[in-house]
Amino acid sequence: MSGEPIAVIGACHHDCPDTCAWEVTVQDGRAIKLRGHDEHPFTRGQLCPKVNRFLDRVYHPDRLLYPLRRIGPKGSGEYEPIGWEEAIDEIAGRLRDIADRDPEAILQYSFDGTQGSIQKGVMADRFFDALGASDIRRHLCGVTSNLGAEAVSGSRLGIDPEELRHARFLILWGTNTLLTNRHLWPTIEAAKTAGATLVVIDPIRTQTAAAPIVDEFFQLAPGTDVALVLAMVNVLDRDGLLDREWLEQSTADWRGFIDAAQDMDPQRAASITGIAGDRIEWLARSYAGTKPAAIRSLIGPEHREHGRDIMRAIAMLPALTGAWRERGGGLARSAAIYFDLALASGGERPVRRSFNMGRLGEVLTDGAMIEALVVHNSNPAVITPGQNDIIAGLEREDLFTVVIEQFLTDTARYADYVLPATTQLEHLDLMTAWGHLYLSLNLPAIEPCGETLPNTEIFRRLAAAMGLTDEGLRDSDEDLVRQLLDSDHPWLEGITFDRLRAEGFVRLGVAPGFRPYVDSRPPTADGKLHLGGLDYRPGTETRTGNPVLAQRYPLTMMSRKQHAKFLNANYGGFENHLPQEGEPRLEIHEADALPRGINDGDRVEVRNDRGALTLTATVSDTAQPGLVTIPFGWWNRSTPEARAVNALTNPAVAADDIGSSFFHENLVEVVRLDDR
Ligand code: SF4
Repeated sequence: MSGEPIAVIGACHHDCPDTCAWEVTVQDGRAIKLRGHDEHPFTRGQLCPKVNRFLDRVYHPDRLLYPLRRIGPKGSGEYEPIGWEEAIDEIAGRLRDIADRDPEAILQYSFDGTQGSIQKGVMADRFFDALGASDIRRHLCGVTSNLGAEAVSGSRLGIDPEELRHARFLILWGTNTLLTNRHLWPTIEAAKTAGATLVVIDPIRTQTAAAPIVDEFFQLAPGTDVALVLAMVNVLDRDGLLDREWLEQSTADWRGFIDAAQDMDPQRAASITGIAGDRIEWLARSYAGTKPAAIRSLIGPEHREHGRDIMRAIAMLPALTGAWRERGGGLARSAAIYFDLALASGGERPVRRSFNMGRLGEVLTDGAMIEALVVHNSNPAVITPGQNDIIAGLEREDLFTVVIEQFLTDTARYADYVLPATTQLEHLDLMTAWGHLYLSLNLPAIEPCGETLPNTEIFRRLAAAMGLTDEGLRDSDEDLVRQLLDSDHPWLEGITFDRLRAEGFVRLGVAPGFRPYVDSRPPTADGKLHLGGLDYRPGTETRTGNPVLAQRYPLTMMSRKQHAKFLNANYGGFENHLPQEGEPRLEIHEADALPRGINDGDRVEVRNDRGALTLTATVSDTAQPGLVTIPFGWWNRSTPEARAVNALTNPAVAADDIGSSFFHENLVEVVRLDDR
């Protein structure tokens, strides 16, 4: 006889701003249904095409259920199952040998395989800190954008995205909301219904740009955002549209920003951005003349060499027009900072040798002396630029590799040991968000499948086996959640573990209508927003920045999130998530396809000095002349060369080694295969 079904509240863990709350129906210990929580104000009862079939993932026949030890060559995917005790003992022994010689020869690699505050890396960080291992700076995404915004305000605070419903002029800047932030769309529709003008700025005609409710789409040349901003400032100054009272009271060095814009009139900007001068004039005047005016931007514009300049330029616009004054005006960015401020900090981590995660290929192949790599919450053979070097590094016979995973990913196939991890249905976690202000508690709905363990427990066991006794290495997952909630920040007042367990999710206590930089002062030394000089600088690997390279590789290639059922590399290897075409396709504009003799459906080679991919071409006007795109997230084994787009992307990082990867700034050539 079947037992009564029970409902368990949880929240999605994916690298997505929406952090949906969900309800899992469990019967006889098995999850039988998963749906969006009806009462969560942002989720509104809907998940998304990626996660609607998450139970198929949990119970997938290919799920890793037991620890595995390699028995074939690296990359072959040949393993034998072993017990946990044996696996932990053997791994701990190898790590101990290496640590005794040189703890910095050990490197962890992890990112946003889960965004959960607990399972993402808190126990892993404690473990590697206790070992004194080298560290990875988790910079693949978001950091450049944060730095640009912080340069203006000393903070990452933007307006609560739900406040966008009050905007009457709304710019979606480099963000494909309908695909990557879909639960914000009703808020945008509400603004539109109330009379807002909706503008999209993007190099690609995304589904958001093509949405019927969009009033104006500006398809700017890739990476020319700063020129567009400067031209807008030029118009605002010329036409007397600056909020001088606000500027004098609340900002510093605004004249430096104005001066920087003097030689970027709309005509000059038109030649750089590809947007006609009269349209730039309209954009500037409408933005300054309609109140409240808001800009929504996430990580799209940042993935460039000068992405910091772009976000700084975007963040200076509302400071120039005083848009922060009105409810619904200003800039809506990642909301993660609200949680960072409210939750208790884990304390300072020790400073050690560390690497920007975008440089993994170089680190593994170029003398950094890494002898052991422990990967969790990441699939670097797919998601990280410099794919050929990363795979060459993973193939090193002298590299001891452990991967904690749910499936045998392209990275896991190179591991000496693969340790099976729980999914979000099987472990506890505290979920913050970067698209809204609701804090959620994810309760485990079912017992772990097979012998899977939470990442936290795996690191607790490794720590015990290695005799590490540092404070915190034995804390339970509930201890870790309670530690984060142990904060006296007013936004967390009344939010306790027990309340979250009962209610599932609670909004931070941020007052509705809170206006950052009006209701509180920017945390800069003088309490003002800092503007100042800014130049438009093309990146080193762009057609204008490197005309010599562009002679060989005349097309800009952007790696983009494109598929509704993908989320980074989370689903790129799953049959029921793959688009019908069964492989990634190159999108190319007719103006570039025609002279190359490329027709829709032709096989083409896309190449640069880093590698080559064989793909099928789609000729469309989604991109623009001079720009091609390849989707992000497909597993390598989906292409004939067993390589995906990151075989072509630029593994460079900013000169100071801080910031996000340059997924959008790569030069390539495309050749029809018959013509090679
Ligand atoms: S991936 Fe994003 S939209 Fe989909 S369920 Fe998770 S949080 Fe919601």
